[in-house]
Amino acid sequence: MGLIVVGAAGRMGRSLIHTIAETEGVHLAGAIERPGSDALGKDSGELAGLGANGVIVTDDALPVFAKVEGVLDFTTPSATLDFAELAAQARIVHVIGTTGMQDAHEARLHAASRHARIVKSGNMSLGVNLLSVLVRQAARALEDRGWDIEVLEMHHRHKVDAPSGTALLLGQAAAEGRGIDLAQHSVKVRDGHTGAREEGSIGFATLRGGSVVGEHSVVIAGEGETIELSHKATDRSIFARGAVRAALWARHQKPGYYSMLDVLGLSD
Ligand code: NAP
Repeated sequence: MGLIVVGAAGRMGRSLIHTIAETEGVHLAGAIERPGSDALGKDSGELAGLGANGVIVTDDALPVFAKVEGVLDFTTPSATLDFAELAAQARIVHVIGTTGMQDAHEARLHAASRHARIVKSGNMSLGVNLLSVLVRQAARALEDRGWDIEVLEMHHRHKVDAPSGTALLLGQAAAEGRGIDLAQHSVKVRDGHTGAREEGSIGFATLRGGSVVGEHSVVIAGEGETIELSHKATDRSIFARGAVRAALWARHQKPGYYSMLDVLGLSD
């Protein structure tokens, strides 16, 4: 399966180029960066520290999209929307790891998924997706009265959006378990005299620093006891392996909008 990596010079882009080189059944057929990037014209294998692979980084996406079966996209919300249109025109697989997308962006992705096979997840790792299933079960089993749910996350100092896509994914799983709408019940910032905690809310706390790849805990605090469900990512390759697995899976699906839970067979 021929795959393009967009955002090829980024942290995830380079990890994806490594993983594609190590995975049977896929090959790197294009490497795209934004116009003006220092990476344009460079060999993508050398950028990823693999040695030359002959795939030169370009900003001319259209001809590359026309000749592949899938695109792996960990970039920015606006870039992802542009790539979704190209993937829909080419009717190929679009695996989206980009986080920080708003509701209006989601509507455009859903429109693109009439023609493309989109797999999107705030976290592509097996571990976090399994964790989300456990969080949903726990939230369903524990009544909201007397059990407070808080999602804590830490990431490296360069991360630009908060809470992380994974924190939101875990908060969504907790909300589904409780049968509530996350947007109506989430508390993303606390500062000053906030008053007592509102019953049934789902709180988020964000830490940033160093080179932390991603740490998440869902804390379910009751009277006299606390449950913590946690995941620590120590290597970006877990996301890259998940993205390649998603592309291979989506190749055999109809156009549509899928999640990693679908790919991993963990959806209800
Ligand atoms: P990063 O190092 O900043 O990489 C993003 C890359 O995309 C950069 O090289 C950037 O170029 C490039 N880019 C920006 N606009 C572009 C465009 N129009 N066309 C082509 N390339 C473009 O960030 P990262 O750490 O790899 O993370 C990228 C995204 O993935 C973030 O949203 C992050 O939260 C998310 N992420 C998701 C998962 C998951 O499992 N879902 C895991 C890890 C990260 P410039 O730097 O030159 O602007």
